[in-house]
Amino acid sequence: MFKKILIANRGEIACRIMQTARKMGIKTVAICSEADTRALHVEMADETVLIGPAAAAESYLDIKKVLAAIEKTGADAVHPGYGFLSENAGFAKALKKAGVAFIGPAQRAITVMGDKIESKRLAVKAGVNTVPGDGDAVKDAAEAVRIAKKIGYPVMLKASAGGGGKGMRIARNDAECRDGLKRAQGEAATAFGDDRVFVEKYIESPRHIEIQILADAAGNTVYLHERECSIQRRHQKVIEEAPSAFLDEATRRAMGEQAVKLAKAVKYQSAGTVEFIVDGDRNFYFLEMNTRLQVEHPVTEKITGLDLVEWMIRIAAGETLPFGQEDIPLQGWSIEARVYAEDPLRNFLPSSGRLTHYIPPAEDETLRVDTGVSEGGEISIHYDPMIAKVVSYGATREEASKRMSSALDEFYIRGVSHNIGFLAALMAHPRFAEGRISTDFIAEEYPDGFHAKDLAPENPDLLVAVSAAVHRAYQERASMISGQIPGRQRVVADDWVVLLQGGSYPVHVVMAEGGYRITMKGNTLVLESAWKLGEPLFWGRLDGTPFCLQVERAFIAYRLTHGGAETDALVMNPGAADLQALMLEKMPPDTSKTLLSPMPGLLVSVAVAEGQDIKSGDELAVVEAMKMENVLRAERDGTVSAIKAVPGDSLSVDQVILEFE
Ligand code: ADP
Ligand code: ADP
Ligand code: MG
Repeated sequence: MFKKILIANRGEIACRIMQTARKMGIKTVAICSEADTRALHVEMADETVLIGPAAAAESYLDIKKVLAAIEKTGADAVHPGYGFLSENAGFAKALKKAGVAFIGPAQRAITVMGDKIESKRLAVKAGVNTVPGDGDAVKDAAEAVRIAKKIGYPVMLKASAGGGGKGMRIARNDAECRDGLKRAQGEAATAFGDDRVFVEKYIESPRHIEIQILADAAGNTVYLHERECSIQRRHQKVIEEAPSAFLDEATRRAMGEQAVKLAKAVKYQSAGTVEFIVDGDRNFYFLEMNTRLQVEHPVTEKITGLDLVEWMIRIAAGETLPFGQEDIPLQGWSIEARVYAEDPLRNFLPSSGRLTHYIPPAEDETLRVDTGVSEGGEISIHYDPMIAKVVSYGATREEASKRMSSALDEFYIRGVSHNIGFLAALMAHPRFAEGRISTDFIAEEYPDGFHAKDLAPENPDLLVAVSAAVHRAYQERASMISGQIPGRQRVVADDWVVLLQGGSYPVHVVMAEGGYRITMKGNTLVLESAWKLGEPLFWGRLDGTPFCLQVERAFIAYRLTHGGAETDALVMNPGAADLQALMLEKMPPDTSKTLLSPMPGLLVSVAVAEGQDIKSGDELAVVEAMKMENVLRAERDGTVSAIKAVPGDSLSVDQVILEFE
């Protein structure tokens, strides 16, 4: 067994790999950039090598520097995690030359599977179902259109070197095909330095279902069942689960067997994932193979009880798998939600900054949180905006989903924008509960993004009760402040009116043993809680039902966050409430005359010209930051009066890009 493993990665995945190494009694080496010297993965490692500046190209992606760190620390193996160098065949080769073990597949498997054209060719040869299509790179637009016509619209134009959802375009007619080819090629050339694009059938409203495989050097290959990752935004996974609610036993076996066939065809060793797209009739087609540990691997670990990182390490050290296909358990249900630093209000633009508050939900057998940050840490503009992964487990899908909802209610993050409310709303969505999902789910259900403030609370009575209790607690404290004029001490009233979401709710609230007694709509409810003033999480039981919601003061209101909804509640004297209700009419949104850069980044392109009339929703400019190209769109109709920045400019936050008349 290895003595010391260097983890060539950062963030949650570096931390997760170290946990297993530690469990196995193996020493760990972290590498870090100048942006990460105080990151959690550095704190967790036995030793750390600072390898370069913040920019990934000069640190985490610099093979020479990683090799130097290996030599310096005497590590005898390297785990690459996902992203960065994990699918870089040159890195695997360099390690081999240096006599250090790469905890992953052999170089050839990485090369073949890293190329979508090559891997599809191999899949066809191995007898794996593939998406209908020509399979070769197209030379020009005319050829693309010819192939598209042969396949039949809609088609997908796809970069052969693609990854992370980049370099893909859907085309429904000849014009879109020509345009899509240009765009996919452009994106692929910039992102991967390889502009080969091929055409395949676009499968409508499909599900993304993938098979986890594990193979040792002796060729023993098993599949660890499937994960469904259909909840995606712009071809990027947001929610994943195992097993899939859509598969029957026969399809599961057929997909598993094809995945194993493909793995054997490249003499695959280590953990790997074969991704399929599945249509409404359960026809499945190979998409690509990821030759690395996958972001969503924890859901597989939950239902099989196997530690994938441990098996990757054991296989790399030459061990053979002691179990066969029939020994792989499939027990219970697991769901993962990716917590991103992004702003659902601003079309999910990534967010960066300091985590002023960071309280993840507590872990137990039904909840796992893989996190790479801690309170006070920084979400840097240089890396992927994922903050943490919440993984729930239960006997059934419904249990796992309920557990996820409660965990998201408890996850408290301030300082950067995040998508927790959005994740909670997805969990609460009836279509998710029914399992009627496809890769179009988010685009169909949230065409205008997600606005936590507009979401109706699931349980308004709970919010009324909690805001009344919170208000009562503040009033009690105010009444105890000394120095009040004798005879004119504040008396805490018992009757209030809670205004929220346009409704007004009279309540009667008194302190009681272990909490509060609240009367509303003629019912008296017992609200048990040990909440203290100022605590962000309000834990309690309302008539015995446990809950957790987040409470903050927002000017004169209480802001309550629960089930993805963010609701402002005003608690007023019954007399003042009527007046206040009138004054609460929403202010119109701040209309500004400029397009500001929402984050620091690189201006990639400007889509408009001076004097041009624009319509709400039109593309205005593209800013690249945090590995993403972010399209800035017009929020209303107007006319461009001036262009204040040119492509190639490095923008600071709130820098003016355009002015409108
Ligand atoms: P997985 O396939 O393991 O679920 P993803 O497909 O979401 O993971 O992402 C795969 C890799 O691509 C990850 O390592 C991630 O860091 C990286 N990645 C994620 N988003 C982007 C992006 N917009 N551009 C380039 N790479 C990305
Ligand atoms: P990446 O390497 O970026 O992960 P994939 O080939 O795995 O690229 O595709 C990512 C996602 O794009 C899939 O999960 C699916 O949502 C969508 N997709 C890819 N190919 C097709 C297709 N032929 N038809 C429909 N959707 C597709
Ligand atoms: Mg993929």
